[in-house]
Amino acid sequence: MEDYTLVLNAGSSSLKFCFFRRLDEKNWEVAARGQIEGIGTVPQFSVRDAQGAVLVKSNLTATVTDGQSAIEALASWLRSKWAGARVSGVGHRVVHGGVQYDRPVLLTKQILQQLHELVPLAPLHQPHNLAAIEAVFNRLPDVPQVACFDTAFHSGHSQVANLVPLPSNLCKSGLRRYGFHGLSYEYIASVLPEICPDIAKGRVIVAHLGNGASLCALKDGKSIDSSLGFTALDGLCMGTRPGALDPGVVLYLFQSLGLAAKEVETILYKQSGLLGISGISNDMRDLLSRSEPEACLAVDYFVYRAVKEIGALTAVLGGIDGLVFTAGIGENSPEIRKRICVASSWLGLELDAQANASGGPRISTQQSKISAWVVPTNEELMIARHTWLLLGLMQPVS
Ligand code: AMP
Repeated sequence: MEDYTLVLNAGSSSLKFCFFRRLDEKNWEVAARGQIEGIGTVPQFSVRDAQGAVLVKSNLTATVTDGQSAIEALASWLRSKWAGARVSGVGHRVVHGGVQYDRPVLLTKQILQQLHELVPLAPLHQPHNLAAIEAVFNRLPDVPQVACFDTAFHSGHSQVANLVPLPSNLCKSGLRRYGFHGLSYEYIASVLPEICPDIAKGRVIVAHLGNGASLCALKDGKSIDSSLGFTALDGLCMGTRPGALDPGVVLYLFQSLGLAAKEVETILYKQSGLLGISGISNDMRDLLSRSEPEACLAVDYFVYRAVKEIGALTAVLGGIDGLVFTAGIGENSPEIRKRICVASSWLGLELDAQANASGGPRISTQQSKISAWVVPTNEELMIARHTWLLLGLMQPVS
């Protein structure tokens, strides 16, 4: 019987998945990857094979209203396509591991309970990540599940980088900076030696620019600091999150505008950032195609914040050897890359316009003092690698 591993990345309205087939002792291949989008509204199911050929593109019934029913729909499709396949493990993306989980962990019901306590620190993602784990426990109770945390890659930050400068007695409850998008950064760090060996051991800033956006400062492939902190609200401007904000603004929302905590949470996680500024969309593609001043301002602010934070992390690193773009915007928008690189030319970065337009991987000129790159991320593969290693389905690379 063939062995398979399922990787799940469950969000508020989407369930992304990747299904891997074991080839031999050391190698696995992608059998299918896809997603269920529009959960709770107009659910759509799309799946491709490893070569990108479409296996499924269809509307699902409106019964797919939440994460649990999305997993049911995915499970019945997998069963219809690979009847009798042995699923040897399921790997999950879990956004917050808190202080306790600084590496992937084999899940138990007790650990799942502990992870629920971190929901207030990542209300946009954590409940959906955990609902997927719960659904697999219910459906496949004998299949081992592994949680891979977005915070784990940043666990080696210095005490000073992690500090939340409030009274120390308050910080004892876990109030500190964690950093996020760690699975993406860990994957990028793992492929730098192959794609850009000259900078892999140096000082690199990785810009994960997607609907969620952050920067990571890497030194010799290790995370030194990140623009995201205690929650996934800090740092760069994001699709619906504001990024760095004077805490006095939050006090003003409570005290002067009289908003309730839930309303403030909704504003900060779902109504700010690109969407809030533009009043039009949280989608960068959409904003770049519009001429309304509000859309232009949103894009200007996105670029401004990214450039400012690149400067800050360059200072943390004591200089910079390379800048890497990844995620939806970073991988696909030559315009945003151009604007960030041009505004960062003071670092000695010279953009190669043609290479940038064609997507790299190297997008800086040969004379440029620091190099710039486009490297597609692959969080699903990172989760799969952790799952295989933890479950003994793959030998560690020596
Ligand atoms: P992610 O969260 O990594 O899936 O990224 C989603 C973001 O990538 C959205 O804001 C999309 O508009 C943006 N995106 C995807 N393709 C493009 C593109 N060709 N140009 C600009 N933005 C893009």
